Amino acid sequence: MSWVVGVDIGGTKTVAGLVSKTGEVLDSIIVPTPTHDADAIVATVVECINTIGKSHKPRAVGIGVAGLIDVTGRNVAFAPHLAFVDFPLAQRIEEQTQLSCVIENDATATAWAEYRVGAGHGVHSLLAVTVGTGLGGGVVVSDALMRGATGTAGEVGHIPWVLDGVLCACGARGCLEQYASGSALTRHAREFVASGHLDAQPLLTACDGDIDQLTGNLVTQLAVAGDHACMALIADIGTTLGSGLSAMVAVLDPAMVVVGGGVSAAGELLLQPARIALEQRLIGGAHRPVPPVMKAQCGELAAMVGAGLLAHESAI
Ligand SMILES: [Zn+2]
Repeated sequence: MSWVVGVDIGGTKTVAGLVSKTGEVLDSIIVPTPTHDADAIVATVVECINTIGKSHKPRAVGIGVAGLIDVTGRNVAFAPHLAFVDFPLAQRIEEQTQLSCVIENDATATAWAEYRVGAGHGVHSLLAVTVGTGLGGGVVVSDALMRGATGTAGEVGHIPWVLDGVLCACGARGCLEQYASGSALTRHAREFVASGHLDAQPLLTACDGDIDQLTGNLVTQLAVAGDHACMALIADIGTTLGSGLSAMVAVLDPAMVVVGGGVSAAGELLLQPARIALEQRLIGGAHRPVPPVMKAQCGELAAMVGAGLLAHESAI
């Protein structure tokens, strides 16, 4: 079997593993990302590739990056959570590993994984959104990734949503990401606890009374365990997500919407309100097929798998 090394450079951790042509994963490892130093990130990725490549010699490398990839597909133009600015990542990895390297935005790589081997297997067009700390997006149209004129298509999290709203990591105010993501869930949960509402007691207990320790993950866990207040917090995120999806679906008309990322662990608690909001808000929603909203299947390794599949395909 032929293998490539797939890598996902995230804002907190880097994941690497061997990826087969059909998306199987072998020997994956997770290490912290040295986010503030581009050379250190390269060194970390090279070390991961060398470690992973000991058992099976890889023929190429595919890297998903939490950032904008430029039109050449070789450089990271900008990454809000990583020290990459106009950085020649593919070239640097090739020089240090002697392997050909492709790079792709992590959410776009995730969309490719879901299209090829995940929830979207068999459809020809899909929109994949990743509801994690941020809100990422990737689009497949007519069996090809939609990269756009400059390589940066799919930034659904930064659709303007609320005029003069919450400040976003991108520097703008009121981006959808600030209202439909794990960060939004965390903020809403903290506001709820700070309000002193009696129903917030389980949340307060779960974070040992320290509101700063309250995270979206904790809310998701309590919601899945049946806490009604946390279920409502998740449903609010789902409703906003569904409204946002209606804008994206109106433009893209995908056959399917795939929802992944940490908050998607809430499953139907997130997806059902999103479906209802999408159908209610989508133009002609009652008179046209509304695309199904499905939970992602490729899990936490999706960007790594998608990047690996892209490396296989470019190495043919
Ligand atoms: Zn933004």
